[in-house]
Amino acid sequence: MSQLVDSFGRKITYLRISITDRCNYRCIYCKPEEQFTFIPHEEILRYEEIIEIIQEAVNLGINKVRITGGEPLVRKGVVDFIKQLRKIKKLEDISLTTNGCFLAGYAEELKAAGLNRVNISLDSLQKNKYRKITRGGNLERVLKGIDSALKAGLLPIKINTVLIKGINDDEVEDFIRLTLERPLNIRFIELMPSGEKVTDNYKGKFISVLEIKESLVKKYSFNPINTSSGNGPAKYYEIEGGKGTIGFITALSQHFCQSCNRIRLTSDGKIRPCLFSNQEIDLKKAIREVGYTKNNQILRRIVIKEKIKMAVKLKPKGHKIKEWISNKISFKMSRIGG
Ligand code: SAM
Repeated sequence: MSQLVDSFGRKITYLRISITDRCNYRCIYCKPEEQFTFIPHEEILRYEEIIEIIQEAVNLGINKVRITGGEPLVRKGVVDFIKQLRKIKKLEDISLTTNGCFLAGYAEELKAAGLNRVNISLDSLQKNKYRKITRGGNLERVLKGIDSALKAGLLPIKINTVLIKGINDDEVEDFIRLTLERPLNIRFIELMPSGEKVTDNYKGKFISVLEIKESLVKKYSFNPINTSSGNGPAKYYEIEGGKGTIGFITALSQHFCQSCNRIRLTSDGKIRPCLFSNQEIDLKKAIREVGYTKNNQILRRIVIKEKIKMAVKLKPKGHKIKEWISNKISFKMSRIGG
């Protein structure tokens, strides 16, 4: 069996795929308030293309994929897409990141289609604040979505909470209390510089999750948990008697590049070896140049494999996010997939 290994000896087993750059929310740290343009439909990878790419990635040793966006549940046909993915042998884990808005209507179907689990983004437990952060989101719907995901068994459920100074840092303990009552894995995430114009006020909004953790450790008795997933960036803890867990993702204050096992496929078909490096390999262009007749299927597969290997070789040793912040470099998270 093949195994993708990068130039620094890291095994690459995880592929994140943004299936659309469209989203029904405009979170304050992700999208600008004013009008912005989406990628034209014909430039977005078709489901058949994504499936073919994942099949070849799995042939090269990828065993875990995450479907993200934009908001993946706004793309039509997502349930059938997951059904097709499930047919790929040796693909062990299929997960999806969502804002949870449409999850109540989808959870059972997604589970039946073969989705293993979901990550749900939730930055506030207060109705009005949630609406402000997401620019129009409805907290009730997301909470229903979480209930439906629990009921459908899309487990474990991870809740992604991006901490933003002066906006939701007063709610950290409310989120922690949630883990006492419900089997949810709350993950506090550091704000990253993303999007056009969104970065302007970045420094004033960043909070070190490491510092938050240190202050919480003094107050709560956190028991560290050894997770089997190994390479994930979060460090997890539980509070005695609690039903869920608490995780801290310190992309900036303590990076985890040395154990990074992932590459990304953007919604417009580029392989991105590192979130914080703008180096990308244009896979869509390469496969569309080969074309889509049955006769050239073998050539297309060879091209996909070569491009994936090339991207893995380009994976940098570590990200340069601090330089990005100083130079105000930004990227569109929705195209790449958070
Ligand atoms: N729409 C889906 C959602 O809301 O989860 C999936 C896409 S969203 C881009 C994926 C994740 O990226 C979300 O958890 C979101 O909070 C996170 N994200 C987006 N911009 C971010 C930023 N600037 N810093 C940290 N996390 C960010």
